[in-house]
Amino acid sequence: MRYVGYLAPAILACAPIFSASMAHGQQVNAAVTLFNNARVFDGKSTSLSEPTNVLVRGKLIETISRAPIPIDRDATTTIIDGGGRTLMPGLIDMHWHAMLARPTPLQATGDVGFNNLVAGEEATDTLMRGFTTVRDVGGPVFGLKRAIDEGVVKGPRIYPSGAMITVTSGHGDFRQLTDLPRTIGGMLTRMEQIGGSMVADSPDEVRVRVREQLMQGASQIKLTAGGGVSSPFSPIDVTTFTEAELRAAVEAAENWGTYVTTHAFTPAAIQRAIGAGVKCIEHGFLMDEATAKLIAEKGIWLSLQPLPDELRQGFPVGSVERAKADEVWPGIGRAYELAKKYKIKTAWGTDVLFSRALAQRQGAILASLARWYTPAEALAMATGTNAELLALSGKRNPYPGKLGVVEQGALADLLLVDGNPLDNINLIADPAKNFKIIMKDGIIYKNTLTK
Ligand SMILES: [Zn+2]
Repeated sequence: MRYVGYLAPAILACAPIFSASMAHGQQVNAAVTLFNNARVFDGKSTSLSEPTNVLVRGKLIETISRAPIPIDRDATTTIIDGGGRTLMPGLIDMHWHAMLARPTPLQATGDVGFNNLVAGEEATDTLMRGFTTVRDVGGPVFGLKRAIDEGVVKGPRIYPSGAMITVTSGHGDFRQLTDLPRTIGGMLTRMEQIGGSMVADSPDEVRVRVREQLMQGASQIKLTAGGGVSSPFSPIDVTTFTEAELRAAVEAAENWGTYVTTHAFTPAAIQRAIGAGVKCIEHGFLMDEATAKLIAEKGIWLSLQPLPDELRQGFPVGSVERAKADEVWPGIGRAYELAKKYKIKTAWGTDVLFSRALAQRQGAILASLARWYTPAEALAMATGTNAELLALSGKRNPYPGKLGVVEQGALADLLLVDGNPLDNINLIADPAKNFKIIMKDGIIYKNTLTK
């Protein structure tokens, strides 16, 4: 609610520029915004541009020029004096769970209406942290995505996976022993009913579940190829899907022109996934040199998260989950070192679950990459590089156009930052203070310059 003060004027200012809703509820944005005198971080470079002017028309960046850009001064034009501040692409989080970031685990399988309202507010907070795009890697997110796209709720672009697909006892199977046995074709568990995760124990079942997510609009498919920390009956060392099951998922996704990403920690789980045609590995924290080399050679994406230690400490001492977390956490730093050593295509994300407090630190988690990367490298990862992985969704990309960069013709997701984040990446950790303007799709959602 703390945003109401400055959000309200920004929204009112945008209201007249929406014309009637189109067939799918998408709003037409006819706004023109001119940023004068900003220094641009383009999502790729190691330094800022000289003072530059950037013209946004509708949802696209139309012109970038050192020379003054002539415009018609009418009611739909907003002129912003950048004052030498930094203009950069909106941030992208490649491992987000929009429906699971804020609720408790118990709430997450509870009332669907309540959960969507909570997730809607969290989505607005996410956008107000400067995250204009998230790749959602598991959760019943299709309704929220639609509400954001149609302007019902303010939030980031969402690349949805829908339900994460797992096996009996795999990561994402949250059943208790008293829920066994599972009858194939029988009653679904609560988690399955709400579309959070789906259990599949044969290639045929995998195909059904993958196609169901694609039917609902999944832009990529998420499987869990090995054990996970927070699931009650999935030891870290196990490899879950058979290669035939993984191949069934890959084939179904590729028939739709998109790709499969898999949760995997161990060399065995990672290697089996790559052997089956998986294009992206989530986490990979326990990989060895040979596996890192394989990932690099095959051009596979590695989606890494600098998970904060508080997350590990959040699991009670003595619990199975804590023991698993203690096993996985030391691998985080090693995975980053290996990713750098072998020049692996590395995406960045947070994987915040069940914690509003941690979700609020999304930008700080990005800034923590300073342990391994220069600010420019970290910010390029969270913008231009992450967008390259988004583009792997091919025809299933819900937002065709260029993201993660400031260049002519790209989608206008922009942040005006007070200061130079390439000198001080910690500016990203305090978006309320340092992000003066947040624009998504050419629409200004926050503007604290024109008060
Ligand atoms: Zn996750």
